[in-house]
Amino acid sequence: MKSAIDVIHAHEILDSRGNPTLNVTVMLRDGTRGSASVPSGASTGIHEALELRDGDKKRYGGKGVLKAIKNVNTKISRELNGMDVLHLQKVDDAMRLLDGTVNKHKLGANAILGVSMACAHAGAHHRKVPLYQHLREMYEFPFKKYRLPTPTMNVLNGGAHADWILDFQEFMIVPQQKKFKEKIRCGSEVFHALGGLLKAAGHSTLKGDEGGYAAGFAKNEDAFKMIVKAIKKAGYKPGKDVMLAMDPAVSEIYDPKTKKYWLKRENKKLTTKQMIAMWEKWVKKYPIVSLEDGLDQDDWDGWVELEKRLGKKVALVGDDFLVTNVERLQKCINMKAANAILIKVNQIGTISEAMSAIALAQRNKYKISVSHRSGETADTTIADIAVAVNAEYIKTGSLSRSERLSKYNRLLAIEEELKR
Ligand code: PGA
Ligand code: ZN
Repeated sequence: MKSAIDVIHAHEILDSRGNPTLNVTVMLRDGTRGSASVPSGASTGIHEALELRDGDKKRYGGKGVLKAIKNVNTKISRELNGMDVLHLQKVDDAMRLLDGTVNKHKLGANAILGVSMACAHAGAHHRKVPLYQHLREMYEFPFKKYRLPTPTMNVLNGGAHADWILDFQEFMIVPQQKKFKEKIRCGSEVFHALGGLLKAAGHSTLKGDEGGYAAGFAKNEDAFKMIVKAIKKAGYKPGKDVMLAMDPAVSEIYDPKTKKYWLKRENKKLTTKQMIAMWEKWVKKYPIVSLEDGLDQDDWDGWVELEKRLGKKVALVGDDFLVTNVERLQKCINMKAANAILIKVNQIGTISEAMSAIALAQRNKYKISVSHRSGETADTTIADIAVAVNAEYIKTGSLSRSERLSKYNRLLAIEEELKR
């Protein structure tokens, strides 16, 4: 069988923060190859699959991934030899079984994901089709046409991605133009207008981990005020040409003991009820179409209330809350606790499991946002996943830094390809 796995090899590379991660190459019997690199989060949810790091403080401050690499090059490689990459579900199942743990801590979700992604690429190359087409057909997504996702662009960075200059992590713009390339142009123009405004107001224009500006304001809400100004300055209409989205990532500022959210910038500690009231106010005041992780990852009752209040108007996206996990998603569907899911392949550890989460979400009319991590590489797999599943959104950072733009640039190429 020509599409059978012959050799798997992983080696250590560095991500956009200068931390080690894995690059994996899979070679098939016919000589076809596929390669992929694994991303890494900073504001990681507690229910995510485990990212295996060496913990050897003498090397990369403990962040080396040599153990994960060894697992790929020995155990995983042996187990998968001869398996068909065109049945990625079986390959992924074999790795899950070999690991045998719920959170993949034996082999490492980073090790397993690197192999899963590289196998997906090898399969596409073997079939001589684009990755998005390969994934759509292999996982039998029922759509006839391809639709490009709308980007949610993180132009102001706070929280763990920008040294806590703001309590909330991501302030995003959501361009509404028809074509993807027009959305990119709009995003870039607003991003640069924002840079000009920040400079003129005496703010820093240095960038955070996802390429957005890391500028501090007295109040978190001032970030949106500045973005609205930037949209206008760039010649667009807020609420029409450009909408807003946010990921406050508030699991990071939640104290489970006092059950309060600590907004240090504003010296406030808010209850779940007060948080919901704040989001309602913001949604009335600003053209917000999407709110991700507006409450803590285990605040289930809070999420149910939030969905009741805002679910008709806004995409309520579970990231740390749902961690691309079908069990958490099913519970969320049963409880009516959200209406959208963020998909991060490394939260769960295999392409197949991420695809199952997407399919379950779509069957229940949830919106899909396929997402990068704050620690990224030039890998563009998520762009193809978003197109494969007709995701409503892609979240891949700001309009600067090549590891963010590589995904946008891949989507620009796909848009061109689909015209033909
Ligand atoms: P992370 O952040 O990659 O640092 O976890 C991204 C997000 O919270 O969406
Ligand atoms: Zn998030």
